[in-house]
Amino acid sequence: MFDRIAILDWSAAGTPKTGKDSIWLAVADASGVRSENIPTRMQAEQRLMALMAEGDRLLIGVDFSLSLPAAALDRLGMDAFGLWQHLAAHHSDTDKNASNYREIAADLNQRLEGEGPFWGNGTKADIPHLPRTKPASTLPEWRACEEVARANGLTPKSCWQLAGAGSVGAQSLTGMPMIHRLREDGATVWPFDPISRVTVAEVYPSIFSAEVRAHLTRHPGMVPDQAQVEMLAQALWAINAGGSLPPPFDVEPSQEGHILGLNHEVALRAAVPTQTLPPRLRNDCFAMPQGVNWVPVDAALTKLKDALHPIKATQTIQSHQAQGRILAADAVARRSNPPRPNSAVDGYGFAHAATGEGPQKLPLVQGRAAAGQPFAGFVPQGAAVRILTGAILPDGVDTVVLEEDCALDGASVIFDGPVKPRANTRKAGEDVEAGQTAIRAGHILRAPDIALLSALGIAEVQVYQPLRVGVLSTGDEIIARPDMDALPYQIFDANRPMLLSLLNGWGYLPIDLGHCKDDPKLIVRTLNKADVDVILTSGGASAGDEDHVSHLLRTKGTLSSWRIALKPGRPLALAMWDGTPVFGLPGNPVAALVCALVFARPALSLMAGSGWAEPVGFTVPAAFEKRKKAGRREYLRARLNDQGMAEVFKSEGSGRISGLSWADGLVELPDEAAEITHGTPVKYIPYAMLGLR
Ligand code: AMP
Ligand code: MG
Repeated sequence: MFDRIAILDWSAAGTPKTGKDSIWLAVADASGVRSENIPTRMQAEQRLMALMAEGDRLLIGVDFSLSLPAAALDRLGMDAFGLWQHLAAHHSDTDKNASNYREIAADLNQRLEGEGPFWGNGTKADIPHLPRTKPASTLPEWRACEEVARANGLTPKSCWQLAGAGSVGAQSLTGMPMIHRLREDGATVWPFDPISRVTVAEVYPSIFSAEVRAHLTRHPGMVPDQAQVEMLAQALWAINAGGSLPPPFDVEPSQEGHILGLNHEVALRAAVPTQTLPPRLRNDCFAMPQGVNWVPVDAALTKLKDALHPIKATQTIQSHQAQGRILAADAVARRSNPPRPNSAVDGYGFAHAATGEGPQKLPLVQGRAAAGQPFAGFVPQGAAVRILTGAILPDGVDTVVLEEDCALDGASVIFDGPVKPRANTRKAGEDVEAGQTAIRAGHILRAPDIALLSALGIAEVQVYQPLRVGVLSTGDEIIARPDMDALPYQIFDANRPMLLSLLNGWGYLPIDLGHCKDDPKLIVRTLNKADVDVILTSGGASAGDEDHVSHLLRTKGTLSSWRIALKPGRPLALAMWDGTPVFGLPGNPVAALVCALVFARPALSLMAGSGWAEPVGFTVPAAFEKRKKAGRREYLRARLNDQGMAEVFKSEGSGRISGLSWADGLVELPDEAAEITHGTPVKYIPYAMLGLR
């Protein structure tokens, strides 16, 4: 149990360095997490010494390997303590980060095998006994813990490699001398020593690579190294806060050392705080230069896209409950699919090497291989085994022949050669390999995605919390519900139920904010108490006398009226209301729907975490005639006739709700002038492509 967790991302840089691939130190404790970027190794060491001196129980996690493969230690005649001492005695470093680690490696090479196993020289000058490229070596590449990491789908780098992207050898050679000095100062090193007030351990921050990627989409200014150390410090802090020493510490001491958290990746990843709230939208994010000109639709969309970003925090949930949710971190395969090579058909399996051209007759071994019932024995070369679809290929089998292509004579199977090597088999991981990204952050999870997550052993996923979208109707003439009485001058609210159902189909949490008369006080009260992420209003969005919504947003919020060159549509009021974005849609139901589909849909998708949603349409011949002037884009209520041509609703009146219901999609006519006659290709966007269900 520790009071503080410090995580150090080390660097072997040859000059003082900040930013990416430099030294980062994060410290987590009960008050939260702080991180700093430290330009030199000497300064970092002083910083650690200072932390140690503060008297708290401190865990220092370092991201370089604290030892070498056991065979190398044996050959050097040292244990890990001896290695650290040796390195501390020979390593020199300066306040300008000038380290002699390459000479140290060359010297170790001579003690080990002459021209290796250390390799990689990032300098121009040759260094005797330090090969530039990977030499043949009799020493193992990996320590036992790194073998485990590899089996778990992580990608450790070899301690022997000193140069090249992501190499850790140099970090280890420059870091281990410091470990010796920290130990002289009273620290112990897990799992070599017992745990003490100050304990150093090797850690592997890259287990959070998926979380880091997701985090960076929300914090574009952050350096990955920084996000990584902060996450690991926080996760270890969360696990440690239980009181007793958490399970990741429970390993057998060995001279090769161990990586803290290995085999506990799921628990660690689940412990990363997901409540780091994304930055709020800027209050002026909807500002649009106000001019007389109408803004083209594409310009307005580009402006919106640039202004918005994901605004929801994330959470971890079980994969099988993730339907419709938006993945906030890449889902990485924990297991290959298929996990082992298996048979794609029912038939007979054998070693290809024993077969040739012409008729083949292979004696059958006793027993069979079936899915879930592996064949226990070995199939000798020249023999065959009965095998069923999905069965793991038994030892000795690499090829399967289809049962329909075989004859049986009781003891043997007979078929015509040649058979292709590995015919009718599936390679392990041929679909997805362990460690591969299976589904990218931002994807909306559907049934097939859930199948994939399950197949790959991904039991939990990090998703965005659902976007809460409030819907408010305004207008003195509006009657809230169709089961209420309406006077002749009153109309039933059509927009609110339409928008709520639209939001539901898009996968957001629709929140009914009801209907308000055109009374500013009422509208203010409703907007203020709405507990939502985004608000859609309809009605009162123009600049007329009765247009209270736009008036209100102008005086009390940060309104930007967007005069968009769009039919139907026109007034679109975009505003920030006390930090909440408001989309003021027109009152006409047809215009309200078109504006919601064209503007709100991609914008909400971006804010919810699934990225800007471009509508997908296709080109079909027109079954109508129309002449249109240049200057604004038009959307027509349309559907396909039985010849696959787009026909449009008989009226373009923007109050004609029946046309919305009649249609199955929209025809989009370009901003430019157009002369459409029977058969002219037009762009048709089905409702389904706009998320209408
Ligand atoms: P406004 O944008 O408030 O000027 O409204 C334009 C037209 O849309 C008027 O004819 C309104 O009566 C109508 N309208 C406004 N809100 C709704 C609504 N929620 N449902 C149906 N029609 C509406
Ligand atoms: Mg109105």
